[in-house]
Amino acid sequence: MTTALHLPRLQRNVPLAPYTTYQIGGPADFFVEVRDQHELAAAVRAARAAKVPYFLLGTGANILVTDKGFRGLVIRNRADHATVHGHQLTAESGATIAQLIDLSASYGLSGLEHYVLIPSSVGGAMWQNLHFASVDAPHWQATQELRSERTLYIAENVVGARILDEQGKIRTVDRDFFAFDYDYSILHDRPLIVLEVTFKLSPKPKAAIELQMQANATWRRSKQPQLPEFPSCGSVFKKIEGVGAGRLIDQAELKGHRLGGAQISPKHANYIVNLGGATAADVLGLIELVQREVKARTGYELHTEIGIIGER
Ligand SMILES: Cc1cc2nc3c(=O)[nH]c(=O)nc-3n(C[C@H](O)[C@H](O)[C@H](O)COP(=O)(O)OP(=O)(O)OC[C@H]3O[C@@H](n4cnc5c(N)ncnc54)[C@H](O)[C@@H]3O)c2cc1C
Repeated sequence: MTTALHLPRLQRNVPLAPYTTYQIGGPADFFVEVRDQHELAAAVRAARAAKVPYFLLGTGANILVTDKGFRGLVIRNRADHATVHGHQLTAESGATIAQLIDLSASYGLSGLEHYVLIPSSVGGAMWQNLHFASVDAPHWQATQELRSERTLYIAENVVGARILDEQGKIRTVDRDFFAFDYDYSILHDRPLIVLEVTFKLSPKPKAAIELQMQANATWRRSKQPQLPEFPSCGSVFKKIEGVGAGRLIDQAELKGHRLGGAQISPKHANYIVNLGGATAADVLGLIELVQREVKARTGYELHTEIGIIGER
């Protein structure tokens, strides 16, 4: 592929597997790492001007890249500057949630620690409205029982953001602009680029923040296969209210089922893990099998919540 793209540090034919938590995926024709929001905006504008398809990659934790890879430009977002002012934290969209948990905890600010051990950039968290049914930490400390009260969403902490819009203009928008819902924000439906987000946090003793992280990490380790031992992209299928995708897959007796190097996790049926050397075709084969069998056995239709990126 020839191109009119002119970007500093532009690379060609770069395998994407190392940039995803699945460790799966063929090459991008063009690949660039951006280090701040100005470079991010410039890369997107350049791709649009050259009419080259582009994909913005955060930590690659909610996508499956196909074996043939991506025909166009993959922009890997490493813009990760973050600052704290009072009770607010402002971060570029390539900052990781893990990085922001550390930063906010160091200021004794609470809000993001609920998302411990979830691989995510700020941009990816805004895309999917990152969520977790956080554990009741004081109860866990007192009883060792892991119970959660309600699902928390990253939207609850968002004040506003700087975005690059469809016309290439930089705008400041508030939380409502994103129309957040379960596994949803406006980013699914409009080609908008999040450059920077401001989060509101609340003061809390560092020991309580640390306890929350321990409680949630304990829950995650006991219920879900963990990175890097089990590469995955987390839950593959959208939840069905009151039923649970994992439970349906379990009922269809598919837990532990393997195809090539991919396996429906014996620990958590909504996870498909890469046991080593899995291809995207293996994972897609298991996705189809799950959809077919669950429909046949339970009548429910499962839909994927992950993005499938690249040439099929
Ligand atoms: C082990 C594991 C556990 C997980 N547990 C959870 C969980 O408990 N809760 C949960 O909600 N999710 C969970 N996930 C899924 C995943 O962590 C989240 O969806 C996360 O927010 C993805 O962020 P990312 O940076 O990796 O996004 P990517 O996968 O890199 O990208 C996802 C989408 O966001 C878009 N995007 C990224 N950045 C921007 C931006 N700046 N502007 C516009 N669009 C952008 C991308 O183009 C893409 O369409 C889990 C994943 C794994 C691997």
